[in-house]
Amino acid sequence: MKEEMSPAYDPKATEEKIYKFWEPYFAPMAVGTTKSKGKTYAIHLPPPNITGSLHMGHALNVTLSDILIRYHRMRGYKTVWFPGTDHAGIATQNVVEKNLKKEGISRWDLGREKFTKKVWEWKEKYGDIIIGQLKKLGASCDWSRTRFTMDPAYAEWVKKAFIHYYEQGFIYRGKRVVSWCPRCQTSLSDLEIEYKEESTKLWYIKYPLISNQESRIRNQEYIIVATTRPETMLGDAAVAVNPDDKRYKNLTGRKVVLPIQNREIPIVADRAVEMSFGTGAVKVTPAHDILDSEIGERHKLPQFQIINERGKMTAEAGKDFEGLKTLEARERVVAELEKLGLIEKIEDYKHNLATCYRCGAALEPLLSDQWFLKMEKLAEKTLKAVKSGKIKIIPENFEKVLLDWMEKVRDWCISRQIWWGHQLPVYFCKNKQEEISNFKFQISNENSSAEKYVVAAEKPKQCPFCKNCDMKQSEDVLDTWFSSALWPFAGLSQNDLKDFYPSSVLITARDIINLWVARMIFSGLEFMKEVPFPETLIHATILTKEGKRMSKSLGTGIDPLGLIEKYGADAIRFGIIWQTMGTQDVHWDEAAVVAGRKFANKLWNIARFVQGQTGISNPEFPCLAGRQVISKQISNSELQDEDREILGKSEKLKTEIEKDIKNYEFGPALHKIYDFIWHDFADQYIELSKNRTDENVKIILCHLLGDSLKLLHPFIPFITEEIHRRLFGNALIVEQW
Ligand SMILES: [Zn+2]
Ligand SMILES: [Zn+2]
Repeated sequence: MKEEMSPAYDPKATEEKIYKFWEPYFAPMAVGTTKSKGKTYAIHLPPPNITGSLHMGHALNVTLSDILIRYHRMRGYKTVWFPGTDHAGIATQNVVEKNLKKEGISRWDLGREKFTKKVWEWKEKYGDIIIGQLKKLGASCDWSRTRFTMDPAYAEWVKKAFIHYYEQGFIYRGKRVVSWCPRCQTSLSDLEIEYKEESTKLWYIKYPLISNQESRIRNQEYIIVATTRPETMLGDAAVAVNPDDKRYKNLTGRKVVLPIQNREIPIVADRAVEMSFGTGAVKVTPAHDILDSEIGERHKLPQFQIINERGKMTAEAGKDFEGLKTLEARERVVAELEKLGLIEKIEDYKHNLATCYRCGAALEPLLSDQWFLKMEKLAEKTLKAVKSGKIKIIPENFEKVLLDWMEKVRDWCISRQIWWGHQLPVYFCKNKQEEISNFKFQISNENSSAEKYVVAAEKPKQCPFCKNCDMKQSEDVLDTWFSSALWPFAGLSQNDLKDFYPSSVLITARDIINLWVARMIFSGLEFMKEVPFPETLIHATILTKEGKRMSKSLGTGIDPLGLIEKYGADAIRFGIIWQTMGTQDVHWDEAAVVAGRKFANKLWNIARFVQGQTGISNPEFPCLAGRQVISKQISNSELQDEDREILGKSEKLKTEIEKDIKNYEFGPALHKIYDFIWHDFADQYIELSKNRTDENVKIILCHLLGDSLKLLHPFIPFITEEIHRRLFGNALIVEQW
């Protein structure tokens, strides 16, 4: 019997049921007929963090991807959307540490093994929450292909990648000044630093010149340096000036006495010095500033490590300062300098403080032992692929972001001193390490002078160095981005690699072009010998109505789940796409979601009308017959002008939508479908049809409704499927486009 349609569409009663109905269709299969035979279409979901909770950025990404996936599935492509989650090293470790803290336990109390077990437990319990949220939005991912970046098969790939790079000579250990988070106890990459504007002081400090008989200059008994971090002067190794700076022309090569430490240090000339900063003369602290470490390398300056990994002063800072926190040391250094009459002046100063993107703590640049990936050759490959057009970045202006980054890219510090992640496949000789454990303090977990290590997939049975120790695996883990760089292929089955590598398009946000996209490109080229995706779509950013960044912690975020609850998933998908015109940032307006709900109701009413008009030949699925008849075509002479007009418009619309989707113009496509359905179909044709009693009009109504549902399905899948199910009987998700 004909199933009566309720007066209003009820997303809550419908969505879950429809989602279950869909699931068998998410696996790749070729539906439809010959037109797309043999063609494949694949997208990889940017793996959300297991700590993640759905935000508007996800909602946008998922909606765009789902439109493409559903569209190509209906067009008969063998289509798959690969989902998964990221272990998100620091983020996850922090969440678990915070929970433990509530019980008064630190990770150190538990030790590494027990702690990582806790993290796995946490992952089992909460790690899939985000997956459930994606389902609520209607994401048609093939969940049987869900990966996790620490799955065994994935981990094998990570090891393989590390070993491969090592064998190519791309991986090396080095002492580098890295940005260190004293709170998270790990180094951070340049891209994980968040700069926050801070009001501070600029201290002008006088460094006494050592007298020089031949060129004694009046009133120049000092050289004045300006700094925002006076405490680091305890570790100064030089004063630097720009060689073009006429003010200091006669001073380069001279020496000054470093106050407090009473150490003689040289004045060097280096082009990295900005003449406009402070006095144009800067102090150089090679062990505690990244730029200074480079100056230090060029001038072969010694490194004085005066701050340790906990953000406290070391013995090398002097016994008056040892053990103080940096800010306490700052006060004491300034007081001491004032006492010596060596503070010239103190100015208010605004600068960008480097902070940890995860916990917000001020970062401490520290000299430490780390593992690096040489970028030169990999960057070259990436540049070539992008410049030659093998990878297209859309919109084009983001190509420059990637190229600029790759052109001046530094070697990638890939080691992290946390416990949650892929441990390096590196094994140290215990005996040899102990011999040289005279290091003052160890920031990294190993000692770089202990070069007795092997890189291997498994722990060697016998130590190749001393022959009798139980080798110890490196305690460092890899930067999370090292593993997510392998996402387009790691852990995929051989068959999937054959069918779906490269994937069709990558859809992502602009803030991870360098962190993630660039690295996937060179990883793909390196390991699969082919680009991982021919196109990258960088989508818009959703901002608040006022144009501010949406942020949970700032209270400016909008919870997509709340919107789904209130308006239904289709309405929010509609609202997002409706506002996404081109790549301009979206100033979020909930009115578009309200409009989406209204449109869903309109569509529902259209369907009810059509159902009421037809349903003669097949009472169970009233429109099925109409659909079959029109495919045989009503002879042209039987059509009235209004029929020809609406059918022509419908055909033309279909072609335009195909073009728009191909060009990733989703917003304009939705606007066009909306206008057609609301105005041409409902306002005009349906109104006209009310005066007609012929059979043709019923057939045409069915046909128009069927085509409209198809066009709309990728955008608002739930309601279109529900109507189709009731009126046509078969699954719209795999209906031939
Ligand atoms: Zn931190
Ligand atoms: Zn050994």
